[in-house]
Amino acid sequence: MIEEAVASLGEPRYRARQVYEAITRGLVTDFAAMTSLPVRLRAALAERLEPVALHEVETRVSRRGGARKTLFVTADGHLVEAVLMALPRRATVCVSSQVGCAVGCAFCASGRLGLRRDLTAEEMVDQVLAAERVLRPDGRRVTNVVVMGMGEPFHNYDETLRACRALNDPEGFGLAARAISISTAGVVPGIDRFAREPPQLNLAVSLHAGTDSLRDRLVPLNRRFPLDAVFAACARYVARTRRKLLFEYVVLAGVNDTPDQVRALAARLGHRLYHLNLIAYNETGGPFSRPRPGALEAFRGALDAAGVRCTVRRSPGDDIEAACGQLRNIRQD
Ligand code: SAH
Ligand code: SF4
Repeated sequence: MIEEAVASLGEPRYRARQVYEAITRGLVTDFAAMTSLPVRLRAALAERLEPVALHEVETRVSRRGGARKTLFVTADGHLVEAVLMALPRRATVCVSSQVGCAVGCAFCASGRLGLRRDLTAEEMVDQVLAAERVLRPDGRRVTNVVVMGMGEPFHNYDETLRACRALNDPEGFGLAARAISISTAGVVPGIDRFAREPPQLNLAVSLHAGTDSLRDRLVPLNRRFPLDAVFAACARYVARTRRKLLFEYVVLAGVNDTPDQVRALAARLGHRLYHLNLIAYNETGGPFSRPRPGALEAFRGALDAAGVRCTVRRSPGDDIEAACGQLRNIRQD
């Protein structure tokens, strides 16, 4: 888009690169501030292009844990959110890939919304640039990006990968590929495609159950891609990439933390490159509840005893509804 606008104005190609660098490295949000360009060109571009795709509506900052959740509005009026988790050594941005989600997981606020539309790569990159703008005055920068906000990234494969490549571009934002992770609910063709992408991007698969009967209920996509198909794709992925594969598991008290799930998970998660991340459910007003700390620890211990490599992940933003889709839904109510 930048190239086309610059070319249509009869300007040389290097001007497009200057605009791109001003946006991705200089974090400039206004053509008027692009001082490397002639004033006349700044005005002409401002008439044709918007340097930012998302505008900030509201930000909530967590009292604990350094999470900061921002709600944005797209040019066509959709609400999108991103979370910045700034820890002492890491600053991770959790990016949304769609407005809503078609998968409709039983416990997820984004799923309840249904799918409104895919986000463009520019809209995904903008979520990261906005976080970088928050960090830069403190001399910090974004160290990691996870595509784990609203939406199923492999239902929006091309734009998600275009966003990852743009973030990785050494002449642009310049984030290492190994610092970028994509989470899927188990879209098998997406996992196979992703295995053939240039190396070092990370993959996470949201599991939430070890048996098809339970996963059919929690992740409706399981009826299309059941566990055997998902794990066959995971095996192909690790065989091809030799990369570690993370499985996400939102623990729902008394639902998916039972002994039969431990047995089923142990039977599937034996590969040395597999690792299970347990996340305590953030309550979103549905029928599920968050496990008590003791119950979560007991589940982790049982998995450990059964030979599953697993870790309990903290969720720093639970006091600001930083789980998937929550802030957006509150505003819709
Ligand atoms: N659609 C993709 C990526 C976005 S969801 C996927 O499902 O993997 C990112 C993660 O947030 C998923 O593991 C999802 O299960 C989790 N999640 C959704 N709602 C949650 C909630 N209320 N509490 C905790 N985690 C939640
Ligand atoms: Fe969609 Fe992921 Fe939420 Fe499931 S958990 S509804 S796949 S965003």
